Amino acid sequence: MKKYIALALTLCCLAPALLKGQDVDSVATNQSTQPRYYTPTSVPDPKVFGQEYYVSDPDRFLRPATIDAINSICHNLYHSVEVELAVVLVGNFDEDKWLAADFCQQLFNGWGIGGSERNTGVLLFFSYGTRDIRIHTGYGMEGLLPDAVCDMIIADNIYALSDGDYNKGILGMVQGIAEQLLTKEAKEELLLGWTPKRYNSDDDLIYHYIYLSFILLIVMTSIALSRINKADKASFEKRPAIIEKTDNLSKGIGCLSVFFPLTLPLLFFAFRKQRKTLRDVPYECPGCGKKMQKLPKEDFDRVSSEADKIENRLHIFQFDYWRCPSCGETHAARFKDKAYSRYSDCKQCGEHAVAYRDCTVKVHPTYSERGEGSKRYQCEVCGNVSYVPYSIPSLFEQEQERIREQQRKEAERRSSYSGGSSRSSSGSWGGGRSGGGGAGRKF
Ligand SMILES: [Zn+2]
Ligand SMILES: [Zn+2]
Repeated sequence: MKKYIALALTLCCLAPALLKGQDVDSVATNQSTQPRYYTPTSVPDPKVFGQEYYVSDPDRFLRPATIDAINSICHNLYHSVEVELAVVLVGNFDEDKWLAADFCQQLFNGWGIGGSERNTGVLLFFSYGTRDIRIHTGYGMEGLLPDAVCDMIIADNIYALSDGDYNKGILGMVQGIAEQLLTKEAKEELLLGWTPKRYNSDDDLIYHYIYLSFILLIVMTSIALSRINKADKASFEKRPAIIEKTDNLSKGIGCLSVFFPLTLPLLFFAFRKQRKTLRDVPYECPGCGKKMQKLPKEDFDRVSSEADKIENRLHIFQFDYWRCPSCGETHAARFKDKAYSRYSDCKQCGEHAVAYRDCTVKVHPTYSERGEGSKRYQCEVCGNVSYVPYSIPSLFEQEQERIREQQRKEAERRSSYSGGSSRSSSGSWGGGRSGGGGAGRKF
């Protein structure tokens, strides 16, 4: 077995090195030999990795540091003026099927670059095989990035591409686009459309919130009233169940109160009070049909059974005792108490008083084989002992579980860093469209 562990450890240590080797190889082959062909739908979408990724460079023409720099410029551009700038570098595409402008147009609309309302998207496209460089603009960008300006930005940097310095050329164009869109005039124009709209949506939200809290209050109250009405008339067997459901409902309302502090706490306290009064509404005598009377607490010991006493002491149940004044019949109404869920039903005496005692390991687990154990249970009322077998995960499974747990914690930690958003790690483009504007050249 030690051999296996050693083998596994060696593999784990070697894996990163092997992967790294592959990385280096692929960069070398992609750039030196045949470039890969892409279609507008086969270009990998960087938003898969998260909202802060703007660069698709599957054949690795750019250095990681350049990609980081571009991502940070694009991030700043998006958060300052809500413009989405996508940067795409592909090895090649089929020139017989698409002109660079058509390829860009399909890619642009396929991803939906830029906000869907104002279409503020820009695509910087580079194709190694066809020697194409193009800035493709969304409908909303044609005023700030007219074709002539796009061509000027390309012209200013194209010499670097011709020299084979793609990092310098692409970064230069990204900076050129950002500079153009971050001037004071451009900012004013870009931000004009949506600032007032934000206030509107906030107002709407508050209105909907107040509306919703009152609707909730009305719905909950009517549910509660119908429950209480039913409970009033129900028999010994049914009423505790109804009261219990009402209890659960009131717990739910208690939780909801955190979000609707305006109306729901009121209802929560009303429920609490109602629970007490419901337990005091007289039952009809099952024998003669007269109204029964609730016995005072001092009399409980006299009428309760041994089982009742034990269950009451262990907080499994609470009891109310009722007596009929005309025929003398007594009856107990039973309510689940806070420890109820810790016990189970007894097969011997039928009481809900079976508690877990301890467990013993019969067969210890090994690295590959599961183990066996036995859990001991005992009834608090009749003392009956029972055993339930259970399976113990193998050491390998335990280790896997530990690793999964670690990964889960790591992922949680990472997602709390990225702005505390609870969304999954992938992002998306805004849904913008292009009318085919922009400019391109061959380098
Ligand atoms: Zn009676
Ligand atoms: Zn028992």
